[in-house]
Amino acid sequence: MKKITVEKKVLSENDKKAAAIRQALASHGVLSLNFVSSPGSGKTSLLEKTLASLVNDLKIALIAGDVQTENDADRLIAAGGEAVFPLVTGGSCHLDAKMISDILPKIDLDNLDLLIIENVGNLVCPASYDLGEDMKIALISTTEGHDKPLKYPGMFRRSSVLVINKTDLLGTSDFDVITVKKNALKINADLKFFETSCRTGDGLKQWFQWLSAEVKIKKNSN
Ligand code: MG
Ligand code: ZN
Repeated sequence: MKKITVEKKVLSENDKKAAAIRQALASHGVLSLNFVSSPGSGKTSLLEKTLASLVNDLKIALIAGDVQTENDADRLIAAGGEAVFPLVTGGSCHLDAKMISDILPKIDLDNLDLLIIENVGNLVCPASYDLGEDMKIALISTTEGHDKPLKYPGMFRRSSVLVINKTDLLGTSDFDVITVKKNALKINADLKFFETSCRTGDGLKQWFQWLSAEVKIKKNSN
């Protein structure tokens, strides 16, 4: 009973911080996306491709969360990211809104179109922690089980988009795109899908186009 109360308190404080972040970003017309997945689904690879493609058209800041090491942040800088902020949690298996608010003052919101947060690879608790994002973008790779949406419903319910990544490996396992979509739609009928391969480039164009359009929508809503 006590544990539940403490957890509720932590989450309600997190929600307050997240609301303040959302407000700050909205007042600058900045779109913010929170990327979530299991470890190894290809979040950093997709973000590398995204930066390389859009960095000339959009002003993008990136917060790269990881339990240990700044390896992902280094990769994103190498991919052209000019405003990359490593966020090493030192053991914590999720990011919370306080970690984001602590970084936010370092980001020039007047000169920003898009804030991308790469969460820690974990499909459980990142679902509960609102980071002030407009949307959660979930990734699943074709090397995972296509029943993951059923196993981790919280994450798929709270996500707006599901990127099915590593499509170049389709056919090497029992993973089936139609089944994963069916499972995901059982949890969240509004999910939008992309199918991508960061190795071959398949499907990336559609992803870039959608993302650019969403940035414009957010800007115009300001
Ligand atoms: Mg990563
Ligand atoms: Zn956690």
